[in-house]
Amino acid sequence: SLEEVAPNFFTLSPDSPLRERIQRAYRWYSPRFSPCDVPRFADVGSITEDWSVMRGIRDFLVARYRNLPEPPTHILGFDARGFLLGPMISVELGVPFVLMRKAGKNPGILIESEPYEKEYKEKKAEAMTIRRGSIGKGSRVVLVDDVLATGGTALSGLQLVEASGATTIEFVAILGIKSLKGVQLSHSYGNGRFSKIPFFALVDESVLTEANCGDTAGYNGARIIGYREALSRI
Ligand code: AMP
Ligand code: MG
Repeated sequence: SLEEVAPNFFTLSPDSPLRERIQRAYRWYSPRFSPCDVPRFADVGSITEDWSVMRGIRDFLVARYRNLPEPPTHILGFDARGFLLGPMISVELGVPFVLMRKAGKNPGILIESEPYEKEYKEKKAEAMTIRRGSIGKGSRVVLVDDVLATGGTALSGLQLVEASGATTIEFVAILGIKSLKGVQLSHSYGNGRFSKIPFFALVDESVLTEANCGDTAGYNGARIIGYREALSRI
């Protein structure tokens, strides 16, 4: 049920039942109703609020990684939405879940990635960290996030695993925005040192149709309603 859309870039095939279930659940918001100025903000909450889709994603990924000849030894999740998906997989596989965060959020001695541009968020470059020793030499790591966009975040994860003496066996996200070429960023980085690492986006942006728009049509009020105001309107 997997399709290779580009070398070492996989997605669920169009007729996959799981792809259909994700498409039915996923909501996106326009800039008017979203925290970021992106054309279609994909709401991971629309996935987490559907426990049955969450269970479907968990079962699919657990089976996928459990059945590898050499299963992962660690799951590495990206702050913050990778934290929603990684633990439910890691506890089933019985392996550690490691947190990739900014230096200001992580304790201990840290390994830091190169700074990367996030076209989709703050314009200034950001770097990510993991705690030194959380992943060791010879570890086999799966990287997890909700969305793969321009790919800067994913590349940070690849750098941190490499700099720990470990191997990334796959990057996985629910949604991969193919048109932003995030996979190419990692695969072409550093003379192709990561070109063999598989990227797996369960679905691509074609699932974010007009019917999946979460915007409240015709709403002209404020997006954020304060506590007292909300109380007074109950
Ligand atoms: P990037 O580093 O550009 O691949 O951006 C990926 C990160 O930004 C992920 O951690 C996502 O949580 C978030 N992100 C980027 N684009 C979107 C989008 N259109 N909708 C929701 N989240 C996004
Ligand atoms: Mg994120």
